[in-house]
Amino acid sequence: MTCDKCKKEMTAREDAVRVSAIAWNEPMTLLFAGARHIRCSPSRAQHIVHPDFEPVVDDRPQFDKRLWDDPESRVYQERGSGYRKECERRYTDAWVQLQDECDEEEAKEKAFKRSRNYLEVMAKIKKIKEGKKKNDD
Ligand SMILES: [Zn+2]
Repeated sequence: MTCDKCKKEMTAREDAVRVSAIAWNEPMTLLFAGARHIRCSPSRAQHIVHPDFEPVVDDRPQFDKRLWDDPESRVYQERGSGYRKECERRYTDAWVQLQDECDEEEAKEKAFKRSRNYLEVMAKIKKIKEGKKKNDD
């Protein structure tokens, strides 16, 4: 999986599109959107407020949440005084949920790789490869 902004490799754990889909309960967006590092999406990342997440500031005026508490701001007028808090709650909870899901996936994969079934299949594959090698020699 590659970030559509910086073009570097990324994991599901870092995916801003997934965080957003969870935050706004819009799983369908995953079908159409690419993947992007959460840190390559400061407009979303600025809302994650958690001790395990180094804070991000988006100082572009059209996105900067710090401006939303000003009653003169467009966001304040359209969404009300609580919108910044709501976004922080949604994005932070979504980011935590994504970390939990990725932890579970990794734990499942680890458990699978130490299971008897997996070890037996790997032993068979090894045997086949060794047999093939002998035939090639
Ligand atoms: Zn990126």
